[in-house]
Amino acid sequence: MNYDVVIVGNGILGCAIAYLLSQEVPELKIAIIGDPKREGSASMAAGAMLNVFSEVDENTLCNDIAKERFVYAIQSTSLWKEWAIRLAKDSGMPVDYKLGTKIVVRNDSDQEKMDLIVKALNEFNEPYTYPNPGSLGMTHAVSFNGLEYNHTPQHKEITIPGEGWVIPSQLFAAFDKYLHKSSVHTEGDKVSIINTEEKTVFTQNYQKTFTYGKLILAAGAYTGELLKNLGVETPRMFYGVGNAFVAHGNFKQEQVVRTPVRTGTCGIVLVPQNGHMYVGASSWVTKNPEYYPRFSSIYNISQEALLMNSDLLESKISKFLVGHRPITEDGMPLIGELDSIEDIYVVTGTRRDGLHMSPLLAKDTINRLLGYSPIVSETFAPERAPLKTLSLMSAIKQTAKIRRSPFGMLEKEMEAVEKIYEDKKLDRGVLPELLDII
Ligand SMILES: Cc1cc2nc3c(=O)[nH]c(=O)nc-3n(C[C@H](O)[C@H](O)[C@H](O)COP(=O)(O)OP(=O)(O)OC[C@H]3O[C@@H](n4cnc5c(N)ncnc54)[C@H](O)[C@@H]3O)c2cc1C
Repeated sequence: MNYDVVIVGNGILGCAIAYLLSQEVPELKIAIIGDPKREGSASMAAGAMLNVFSEVDENTLCNDIAKERFVYAIQSTSLWKEWAIRLAKDSGMPVDYKLGTKIVVRNDSDQEKMDLIVKALNEFNEPYTYPNPGSLGMTHAVSFNGLEYNHTPQHKEITIPGEGWVIPSQLFAAFDKYLHKSSVHTEGDKVSIINTEEKTVFTQNYQKTFTYGKLILAAGAYTGELLKNLGVETPRMFYGVGNAFVAHGNFKQEQVVRTPVRTGTCGIVLVPQNGHMYVGASSWVTKNPEYYPRFSSIYNISQEALLMNSDLLESKISKFLVGHRPITEDGMPLIGELDSIEDIYVVTGTRRDGLHMSPLLAKDTINRLLGYSPIVSETFAPERAPLKTLSLMSAIKQTAKIRRSPFGMLEKEMEAVEKIYEDKKLDRGVLPELLDII
């Protein structure tokens, strides 16, 4: 079977690329190959929040590389409304796109992040409101800045009206319906071998061979294994395992309610899904995928979520979710064509916001395939040395803060973390959740 383009991976990125490419160049022969159950897919387990400012932490704007990534995320926000409308029209399926994200502070560390969020909102002129509009009213960042607001820790809750969410099951139903009726060939299987000399991929279960003109690797966290087998040198990839659940009940909540981010996770998030409530999410980083939710994660998430929405107490859990955030050792995405092997493109490493980034990354990939200017710069090219995104001192401090016991001394914990850095001979800061695995 010969195809102009073969896409490996049927998560949100693979589907978005297949959809857009078939729309833009209908005469192309396209195949998308992926596990029919999408087991372990990050996209299936995602809260599908289209959050950018809500996700700000101490690393978001810490240097030019991080800022560049942040600007792509802002650009993605502006694409979503049209993207949802277009996908609904082309598939004939509902694709809800809703707005409103309330951020709540639940502890001191949340408070530190909240201050950074407000600072970023002000810096980028993104509107936000306080939950009681009577007291301060709708605030625009600039005018608010004009009141000489200082960033003392006093924001307990804010709402960002321009940040919303979608529902993964709806998105996939729409993509699957569209792809089914389009000329795109969908193959429910996994790719086990890529032969770059013959330009073929071979599937695991049905043992079929697909010949490609151009190959796109968009298999989420599993892309790391494919790249390793190709002998390509990229920053290493890991599985950012995340657990969440969906509850069914009588919920009055009409917007996303969430904490700021916490060590590699989006924090505790409650996302309304048409009578259901998505409740997530945990994160830990592993070298291999995990397919069952951890009891401790579900316990911790439920305990805090209940304090954020007491309606959960009467609800029933209808689904547990386990997905793998694709995370690289420098925490940054791998985007673009390989230098060392012709006609192979990589789109992964999106970590916490690949669903949000999907319209932009799909467009970027298609521009590359068709020879137009890419959107994403060379900074994130896959065959690179790990980027220096965090300073050593900042990374050590962040890790020590997380690891220290409630009454422990920060300095003592920093010494312990510095020792780990020395032992591992690390000359760059790494995200706290990656230190043990690197
Ligand atoms: C708990 C959780 C919450 C999240 N919340 C959000 C959020 O609110 N907003 C947001 O923007 N992002 C969120 N994310 C991150 C987001 O889900 C990811 O960044 C994004 O979904 C990655 O999409 P993907 O298509 O690259 O990978 P995936 O969705 O993981 O898809 C990869 C697909 O490839 C398949 N596959 C694997 N191996 C092969 C192979 N060899 N051959 C063929 N196919 C293969 C897999 O089965 C899977 O279906 C969250 C992630 C998790 C885990």
